[in-house]
Amino acid sequence: MAKRDYYEVLGLSKGASQDEIKRAYRQLAKKYHPDINKEPGAEEKFKEINEAYDTLSDEQKKARYDQFGFDDPMGGAGGSGFGGFGGSGFGGFSGFEDIFSSFFGGGGRSQHNGPQQGKDVEKSMTITFEEAVYGCKKRVRITVDEECTACGGTGAFSKNDIKTCPKCKGQGRVYMRQQTIFGQSTVQTTCPECNGSGKVVTHKCDVCGGKGRSRKTKDVDVTIPAGIDTGMTLRMPGCGEAGINGGSHGDLFITFTVTPHKNFIREGSDIILNVPISFTQAALGDSIEIPTIDSPVMLKIPAGTQTETRFRLRGKGTKNPKSSSSSRGDQYVIVHVETPTNLTSEEKELLERLGNVEKKEKKSPWERFKNLFQ
Ligand SMILES: [Zn+2]
Ligand SMILES: [Zn+2]
Repeated sequence: MAKRDYYEVLGLSKGASQDEIKRAYRQLAKKYHPDINKEPGAEEKFKEINEAYDTLSDEQKKARYDQFGFDDPMGGAGGSGFGGFGGSGFGGFSGFEDIFSSFFGGGGRSQHNGPQQGKDVEKSMTITFEEAVYGCKKRVRITVDEECTACGGTGAFSKNDIKTCPKCKGQGRVYMRQQTIFGQSTVQTTCPECNGSGKVVTHKCDVCGGKGRSRKTKDVDVTIPAGIDTGMTLRMPGCGEAGINGGSHGDLFITFTVTPHKNFIREGSDIILNVPISFTQAALGDSIEIPTIDSPVMLKIPAGTQTETRFRLRGKGTKNPKSSSSSRGDQYVIVHVETPTNLTSEEKELLERLGNVEKKEKKSPWERFKNLFQ
């Protein structure tokens, strides 16, 4: 198969600038990268693109290619087969790394010795119904990695004990040759001597043993907003573990369990209260005092109220801690009409008289029900 012109491979015309070459290469390499493009021929295409870029991105090789094409008497451009990965120095490789950083959002050099955010810490906490409804302040004890105070997190006994790493000369990365399916390639890896920090410590901090960090137990004051419910999680930014290399602290996440109240039932921001009433209250109507999470309120029971009727006390529920609005849920009062028991003789007499009236007027629910079947 005849070799295609390198400019043609990248979809460029002769004399394209380095910027254009780089842009075209990145676009095509992304499109045909074997990890992404599984179509037949994609890998061949990817190799071709890399070879073209290897030559055209190098000013010297490009000049020779422009002059001689593939017939370079020095055997330069066309000779190496798979230039992008081959033994051609780091030109091709850095292009490769570029693609990976744009694919996977980062990676490469900066991640290893750059700042890293500390780990998040998760805790659970049980609070009472009242604490959840009104909000409260609590203190939570956590054990986290913190910066060693003796060495300020450097891990060194003194400032003079921190030296530039001799192996990577402070770069944090070293180059290694390795054999791959594409042939020999050069890969960059984290310096094993300094773990990517670019620095070595010659005399370790005697407090943390050189780790720069130590386990510490600390108390965190938590302000729990009103309206927290079981299963909700509160995030406290910066209260987690210390970061690495100057990175910020992680966060503390607290997940709540709210113990139930003996009367009030939470339903989101609404509160349910079951209230027993007598059947005379239900029949004749009444005004009754109802406890709420604020002060008690009077509730009017209209005459003829049925059992299980729900009454709504607007705005007497809890706040919604996830919403910035100060509006509150409602309280629902469910009345349960109770049949009287343990009657006194006076009550019994009165009820018997009522029963007789109902019979005479054929007003009892039983009479009405019976009539349905006649
Ligand atoms: Zn090193
Ligand atoms: Zn230390």
